[in-house]
Amino acid sequence: MFSITNPFNKIFLSKYSYFSESQINTVLVNSEKASAAWRHTPIAERLKFIENLIFTLTKQQHLLAERCSLEMGKPITQSEAEVKKCITLCDYYLKNSENFLSVYEILTDADESFITYEPLGVILGVMPWNFPYWQVFRFAIPAIIAGNAVVVKHASNVAGCGILLEELFSEAGFPKGIYQNLLISGDQVEDVINNPIIRAVSLTGSEKAGAAVASAAAKQIKKAVLELGGSNAFIVCEDASLDDAVAVAVNARMQNTGQSCIAAKRFLVHNKVFDAFLEGFKKGVEALKPGDPMDKATEIGPMAREDLAIGIEKQVKDSVAMGAKLVTGGKRKDAFYDPTILIGVTTDMPVFKEEVFGPVAAIMAFDSFEEAVELSNKTNFGLGVTVFTNDIEGIKKKVHLFEEGAVFINAMVKSDPALPFGGVKRSGFGRELAENGLKEFVNVKTVYIK
Ligand code: NDP
Repeated sequence: MFSITNPFNKIFLSKYSYFSESQINTVLVNSEKASAAWRHTPIAERLKFIENLIFTLTKQQHLLAERCSLEMGKPITQSEAEVKKCITLCDYYLKNSENFLSVYEILTDADESFITYEPLGVILGVMPWNFPYWQVFRFAIPAIIAGNAVVVKHASNVAGCGILLEELFSEAGFPKGIYQNLLISGDQVEDVINNPIIRAVSLTGSEKAGAAVASAAAKQIKKAVLELGGSNAFIVCEDASLDDAVAVAVNARMQNTGQSCIAAKRFLVHNKVFDAFLEGFKKGVEALKPGDPMDKATEIGPMAREDLAIGIEKQVKDSVAMGAKLVTGGKRKDAFYDPTILIGVTTDMPVFKEEVFGPVAAIMAFDSFEEAVELSNKTNFGLGVTVFTNDIEGIKKKVHLFEEGAVFINAMVKSDPALPFGGVKRSGFGRELAENGLKEFVNVKTVYIK
């Protein structure tokens, strides 16, 4: 039994029990049955349910947004935007999936050769709390459209969001068992992976959880897609438009109270524009309005759990003890951590070498682009990087220098249903979204006819 409290005011929200072994078995057997029929359902039929889902999502958007803000403290306008983004994702796959999954002919010495894309069966999703709807949608929607059934183990602190998601799929009329919520703890995940009904797993979360899930999957020779942490650099070149860079930088770091894998975490600024950037950035960060996540004017909420805020406080304190200087922020009250800027950062400090999953910006200066690239790559992570510059053609030639899953020029790194999303190094492997995401959980079947 565990309970969920609102991280803003510590008010009790709800109490849940994790599923027993027999409840888990019932869920898995239901998904196996559902997947056996769903895989033979023509894709045009499957897509009709996605159309229904857009309708139910639109209808329930306020309920969903409220639950998210209550359980993990996301400012309500950002929760609403997250639900809207899920609608955009459904719409994208509605328009493109038939084309992506159509038979693909390949010229060989055969009279005819082609590939087809067939579902794998039942896929387990292990999902995080930071974008409790979006993360689930970007895993589940392509998997389901490709003909799989999914079971979702959501993060315990957003169990209510997980239950609402299951209700949403049911209200949209999906056959029983295509989307099921699996209310289990992290410790119960390995047994589920070991169950022969599960064919593959997708996890978004910490390195620790990712390593545990990938090891369990590897032991069973099952595929895993991992979307883990990031420590994206945000590079401001000497020739960048500073007003634009500052405005984007504030959002890139502070959106969702800094709790995003693709947030800009390490700011690398050319020495010649360092002071001007810092002045604008400080002004922008200090202007953010903290408060009650349910208030539409709030821009910074509490962190999702107090222990996460305590972790951030330690990373900052340890970095300050090593010589970093606080420009603003640096204080914690319960789950609230003040938007914080640090300068005088060195590469051995926690705020540089670890992922900082909260509203803290570490800023360093550089003198040459080569130095900026070296600093940017000096991390175990590799999700994405932003470069602000006016020399777009010049930077396009240098994209290959970055050890990243994505390079965004004059924009913050963000996910878009039409663009593949994922990382290299300790940020994980596999891709979500776009055509790549739709094909992660399929059997690419070769057919050769002579
Ligand atoms: P976790 O990685 O622990 O949680 C993510 C999901 O994994 C949850 O559903 C969790 O379940 C589950 N999980 C945890 N441990 C295991 C395990 N051993 N085996 C299987 N599943 C497991 O994240 P935290 O909430 O602890 O956040 C810690 C840090 O992780 C953050 O500070 C951030 O650095 C990173 N993180 C990254 C995210 C991203 O988007 N890449 C998202 C969230 C966190 P349960 O909730 O029941 O423990």
